[in-house]
Amino acid sequence: MTFEELGLKSEVLKSLKELGFEAPTPIQEKAIPYLLGKDSDFVGLAQTGTGKTAAFGLPLVNNIENHAKTPQGLVICPTRELCLQIAKDLESYSTNLKVNIVAVYGGTDIRKQMTDIKRGASVIVATPGRLMDLINRRAISLADVEYVILDEADEMLNMGFKEDIDAILDTTPEKKNVWLFSATMPAEVARIAKTYMNDPMEVAIGHKNQSNENIDHIYYVVKEKDRYAAVKRLIDFNPEIYGLIFCRTRQETGSVAEKLAKEGYNAEPLHGDLSQVQRDRVMDRFRKKDLQILVATDVAARGLDIDNITHVINYNLPDDIENYTHRSGRTARAGKKGESLVLINTRENGKIRAIEKQMRTTFTLGTVPNAEEICEIQLLKLINKVIDADIREKEIQKFMPTIMAKFEDLSKEEVIKHFVSTEFNRFIEYYERAGDLNATASKSEDNGSEDRGRRRDRGDETETGKTRFFVSIGRRDGLNPGGLLRLICDATGLTSGNVGRIDIMTSYSFFEADNEFADNILKKVNGAEYEGNQVSIEVTKSKPGGGSQRSGGGGRRDGGSFGGKFQGNRDGGARRSEGGSRDGGFRKEGGQSSFGGNRRDSGSSSGSGNRRDGGGSSYADRSRRDGDQRSEGGSRSEGAPRREGGFNREGGSNSGGGSRPRSFGKPFNKKS
Ligand code: AMP
Repeated sequence: MTFEELGLKSEVLKSLKELGFEAPTPIQEKAIPYLLGKDSDFVGLAQTGTGKTAAFGLPLVNNIENHAKTPQGLVICPTRELCLQIAKDLESYSTNLKVNIVAVYGGTDIRKQMTDIKRGASVIVATPGRLMDLINRRAISLADVEYVILDEADEMLNMGFKEDIDAILDTTPEKKNVWLFSATMPAEVARIAKTYMNDPMEVAIGHKNQSNENIDHIYYVVKEKDRYAAVKRLIDFNPEIYGLIFCRTRQETGSVAEKLAKEGYNAEPLHGDLSQVQRDRVMDRFRKKDLQILVATDVAARGLDIDNITHVINYNLPDDIENYTHRSGRTARAGKKGESLVLINTRENGKIRAIEKQMRTTFTLGTVPNAEEICEIQLLKLINKVIDADIREKEIQKFMPTIMAKFEDLSKEEVIKHFVSTEFNRFIEYYERAGDLNATASKSEDNGSEDRGRRRDRGDETETGKTRFFVSIGRRDGLNPGGLLRLICDATGLTSGNVGRIDIMTSYSFFEADNEFADNILKKVNGAEYEGNQVSIEVTKSKPGGGSQRSGGGGRRDGGSFGGKFQGNRDGGARRSEGGSRDGGFRKEGGQSSFGGNRRDSGSSSGSGNRRDGGGSSYADRSRRDGDQRSEGGSRSEGAPRREGGFNREGGSNSGGGSRPRSFGKPFNKKS
């Protein structure tokens, strides 16, 4: 369907062309033709990111009389940020019309807003508190309002605006159209619909209360004391993260943000204790991607509609399941994919099950990455950064003879080792002694519901009579337990009962099946396609040499057996850098190599690590297999020793001496 077919007038269509909107989103397709008509009460159940603003905004500006001086349209929304965003969007839809849009919200001078209204406003976009204030001061008349839009109605009610909304709606004319948008439909929202609407058309995008399908929900079970350390690892494992961390209280928000910032992460808090000016500044930095991680309370992050957020991290679960819907809905907007990561303690499994049930979605159990996995990701990031570095031929030329003379006695491989080690050694040291942060969910909470995609105790052997397979694709390729099951069953003709546990990891996966089907599976599933990716599988050997490795680390554990197929590239190589620079566009690295300054480290040995992984799948091997010469130096990660910590900080310049390693890359601008 096209926008032309929806019945919008040519001026609006022209603006849409200018905006580059090519086709309506599903909610727009359903809502717009109806809302363009007369007498149109409407309930839209849709999350942010579905295009709901245009779903009401386009018919609104389309229907408003040109040059109207008194408000004909009234949009009410929960927060100042959303208010400004909606006003901006409406303006962009009406560039070819004479519609005057005025935004009114708290926290700024009311007199200026009163003047703006007096000058003539055909559409008011308002937060409830400020609008009530204006009504009480008789600074605004809603007598001519024909369209009232309640956006994020559930949020407004959550925030305690029930009385204000009732009072505002009572001030508007009896005969009007009410369009209500809400992500969820609690009883209070249903009451508003019942009280103020006549036989509204109801459109739900997805099920009611259902989560956006582009969001991967992943939970990690950790001990209470390890929450913070686990968050750092998740950030470190996702160097290109553009993320939002949710905490329950202002204190916790402040403390997590402060600790992260102290440790050099590009993170800041957003909570109600900040002044409006401070909040604006933080939001602005985050919006511009100068800030990589925003740590926020639920209330402060309401209305935070920013595209391209890659991860939402739930430092802990919200008390209210609906808040989880809102939190996770901050990622995967406008058709993009995103991950909502949840940290739970060993007794909170039941909460995950409750959210799954209410949202009709499935969570995957994730494993908090270990030191080696993080080292690998960051090392590959560094290597890619080196490869991608802009070479200023002219400027560097005059130093080249001296540089070449210095390196004269070193082979290419040695030079690479030295360069990489200037960053990597400190990093390895930092992660030395880092243990496994994954805990086991308590049995009583599990209700025996462990099934596909969920946990088994880490370190378990493959179940007797079963063969365990390694699969070359993972979550990052859009794979989920159901998808893998379908893939196996479609390729082999087996039924789901023949397939045992499934572990979907970030870039690879495992599954088990009865031994008798192993040959068939190997033959048929190998080479099958999943969403454009060719899948290869291998039988993994059972756990070598005891130890307490996790099932999630199975790739490493079984490394020797499938060696080069271990997707090193996916995890940290080309794929990663693509993610950053193309999708998100926030790799503002400023052209500096992150291992610029620290020359004094350069003589240190790169061979210091103790290689523990049985010599298999080095990233160098993997890269080579993938036809990627990046690691041809073979500077094998000598098996990063473990240690706790994080390093994804602004790191362009090396501080040297300090115990914390700087980031291998500099994905974001320096903190201001
Ligand atoms: P919303 O759900 O209103 O917050 O919109 C999410 C994002 O999708 C915003 O950045 C919109 O500008 C964008 N958007 C909305 N409708 C369309 C469309 N039909 N085509 C392309 N982008 C759209």
